[in-house]
Amino acid sequence: MKTYHIITIGCQMNKSDSERLAGRLEQNGYKKTDNKYQADLIVVNTCGVRQSAEDRIYGLIPGIKKANQKAKIVLTGCLAARQDVKNRLKDYVDEWLPISEIFNFQFSIFKQTLIFNFQANAKCKNDYLKIIPKYESEFSAFVPIGNGCNNFCSYCVVPYARGREVYRPVEDILAEVKELVKKNYKEIILIAQNVNSYKSQIPNPNNQTNSKSQIKNSKNKIIDFSDLLKMVNGIQGDFWLRFMTSHPKDMSDKLIETMVDCEKVCHQVHLPAQAGDDEVLASMNRKYKIADYVELVGKIRSILNDQIPITNNQTNSKFQVPNSKQSLWKQPVSITTDLIVGFPTETKRRFANTAKLMRQIKFDMAYIAKYSARPETAAAKMQDNVSTVEKKRREQILMKILRKTALENNKKYLGKIMKVLVEGESKSEEWAGRTATNKNVKFPSASWRTNDKNNLIGKFVNVKIIKAQDFGLAGELIS
Ligand code: SAH
Ligand code: SF4
Repeated sequence: MKTYHIITIGCQMNKSDSERLAGRLEQNGYKKTDNKYQADLIVVNTCGVRQSAEDRIYGLIPGIKKANQKAKIVLTGCLAARQDVKNRLKDYVDEWLPISEIFNFQFSIFKQTLIFNFQANAKCKNDYLKIIPKYESEFSAFVPIGNGCNNFCSYCVVPYARGREVYRPVEDILAEVKELVKKNYKEIILIAQNVNSYKSQIPNPNNQTNSKSQIKNSKNKIIDFSDLLKMVNGIQGDFWLRFMTSHPKDMSDKLIETMVDCEKVCHQVHLPAQAGDDEVLASMNRKYKIADYVELVGKIRSILNDQIPITNNQTNSKFQVPNSKQSLWKQPVSITTDLIVGFPTETKRRFANTAKLMRQIKFDMAYIAKYSARPETAAAKMQDNVSTVEKKRREQILMKILRKTALENNKKYLGKIMKVLVEGESKSEEWAGRTATNKNVKFPSASWRTNDKNNLIGKFVNVKIIKAQDFGLAGELIS
């Protein structure tokens, strides 16, 4: 049996794509191996969002090819269509595979050297999200609701690498989630570049006719992201529901209110600000102003924080803990963000506004990236005029603020009992998991009396928080 090994660089979407790729390979008789130096087929799923992510493959791929000469190397993901990347790695890569083509994976290397061909399925061409994935986790799953982006933020390569937005039909998404819940998955994360642009049509049953005039008169129902969230929330089962990413310009009141109504939806919103200065935001083509962003966060906090019911219905079993809204403590909504430092128009004065925004919002988490110019993007035509040293300095300033506000937020958890989804062990004698607000929680296994350690992974438990750090909480399991 031929073996495969997939290396994934980049975002959740890439991780999810790799799961579909793995599903496709296994349907065709390949077996996974963790050893890239022994695999027959190595797929590198690449990321082109930042130069640093791109640079990783230039050492990695030649290194693998040297150490494992018999392996066939396939490059997919965001860099698969870049001619300069192709030129640079032509001696090491056997096939260049656009991710949307993985359904029709049928290459000469397989014909020549491997025992089978993938079945071409013309009907499903470019509809690779229909592939049944092989999920990495047995209790938490990314479920893509679409692919691509229409926003063209001036720094971002995603619209070029992934193309325009295409959304999955609602029935496909519901079927995938139902299947996961049947398998006892505890966390479903709906992902797309901008979930709030989601649109799907449910055909009106009256439209089943050939008469053109009748089709004109009977409208199909349009489902937006809030409707979709409600439908997924309606699936019977004990699971948490998350989604990302929300573009601030598209986060609607309807969605915030839907989050309140849906008891499975976790109170965590990832809302990339990118910068805290109106002029920088305008040159990034983000289409909102800082005042809009601050108002939006205020609205999210006031609507979500005020309406979480507090109940004290502690259950008997550690495994049957209350759902996310019935937590013993009214946990504040967690606000997380992405920020870029050193964008071409970011002067010191403008950067100071980003630091100000961070102090004002008090983010729970922020992913801070140093700007790098990306081919084809509008910003690549601007002069990348903030030095690497200065970008690093700005990143450190923001990190310092983040550590402070995240710690401040985490201290509110002290003494509270939290529902935690256990993910694994952090180090020996400690379990690691997350709260509905996506806070990392560690707790020692010594307090777990049955000694059957494995049975905690993928389960909900109650943990009393006794220690707060900037990026994590520690506590003890309670019965
Ligand atoms: N769709 C999401 C995220 C897309 S890319 C959104 O709209 O926010 C993930 C993150 O990478 C971005 O939020 C941004 O912070 C960062 N990023 C994108 N292009 C970048 C670039 N050229 N340089 C540095 N960071 C970048
Ligand atoms: Fe990139 Fe902007 Fe689209 Fe996000 S919304 S993927 S940052 S272009």
